[in-house]
Amino acid sequence: MTLSKNFNLDQYKRDHQFQIKHNYLQEQFSENHEIWNKINEVISKSEFTLGSAVEQFERRLEEYLGCRHAISVGSGTDALRLSLIALGVQGGDEVITSPYSFYATTAAIVTLGATPVFVDVDDTGCMDVEKIENAITGKTKAILPVHWAGKPANLNGILAIANHYKIPVVEDACHALGGSYGGAKIGTFGTLTCFSFHPLKNLNVWGDGGLITTNNDELANHLRLIRNHGLDTRDVCRVFAFNSRLDTIQAVVGITMLGKLDAINRVRHSNSKFLNDSLSKLKDVLLPVITDSEFHTFHLYSIRTKQRDDLINVLTLNGVDAKIHYPTPLHLQPAAKFLGYVQGDFPIAERISRETISLPVHEFVTKEQLIFMADIISRVVK
Ligand SMILES: *Cc1c(COP(=O)(O)O)cnc(C)c1O
Repeated sequence: MTLSKNFNLDQYKRDHQFQIKHNYLQEQFSENHEIWNKINEVISKSEFTLGSAVEQFERRLEEYLGCRHAISVGSGTDALRLSLIALGVQGGDEVITSPYSFYATTAAIVTLGATPVFVDVDDTGCMDVEKIENAITGKTKAILPVHWAGKPANLNGILAIANHYKIPVVEDACHALGGSYGGAKIGTFGTLTCFSFHPLKNLNVWGDGGLITTNNDELANHLRLIRNHGLDTRDVCRVFAFNSRLDTIQAVVGITMLGKLDAINRVRHSNSKFLNDSLSKLKDVLLPVITDSEFHTFHLYSIRTKQRDDLINVLTLNGVDAKIHYPTPLHLQPAAKFLGYVQGDFPIAERISRETISLPVHEFVTKEQLIFMADIISRVVK
């Protein structure tokens, strides 16, 4: 048997070798005195778990998003899992979701003993609304769409179907904090919405963290219970549950970053628009769609081309950390074997996986670097 190893250490080394980086955390946190001062306060008061900064962060998120409840948890993955648990999803139930996402979306379903039922995505990378109704059965307990790359999924379509069949919607909005749809922030639409504060997400802390939002008081109460051992008070355990709290230290980082989120998202958006404009004449390139009726957070700026593999080689040789998110859709991963899906089941997801390439558009990418990348792409792809 091969022993599992911590592949992150090699990844960190590789990340630093590029001139145009995907990972920009060194630059982002080079000025960090303000955060350290506040962390020192947490330490001096020893408020490590569910301290006052956690409360403050949650209230600020409620205000920012315009939702009734923001409940912080240990990670984006836990946000998804606890949301499904709060809705009563258990072994034998089915949850409709996307085959084109990060692993955690499906893992949240599978680790509860429930069955993920995939429906294909459309060219935006988000769930194809036309295909949802066919996947609904008597066992469907939730619909779990993903706002892929920060592009809001077709919420009007999804919510119309969900309301008609009375099925709750849990949104995976780990890419989409700060995004909006028809004038309202993502986090105010579905029954529950899940976000991640992982270091590579648009609002990033110094470790793991996640968030669930809802306008439903009962679900919010239950989630506040089950993220903290099911405790009503120190001495009364109402339900045996989990330990999935946002560290107070991470909440301190989160409060600072929430103040910067709109500026960060605006730069990602304008860099993406600049690349879209620069690449608009290329025939074999499918660009992300930018519209006025929604705000795409561009957690990922991903384009599609049949010459993806050539392009990634040339970009990498030129010092650009172009990445593939992701080369294998979820239904074809070894972990999904037991579900019995085969190649060809979700043709759009499979095609995107073959053609997609993500370019750095974060706040530290300069205009010269954007032009440099666009020039390379124009030379390779034509
Ligand atoms: C990052 C991510 C998650 C998981 O979030 P963690 O905080 O890393 O647990 C879930 N879904 C999507 C789409 C993600 O990108």
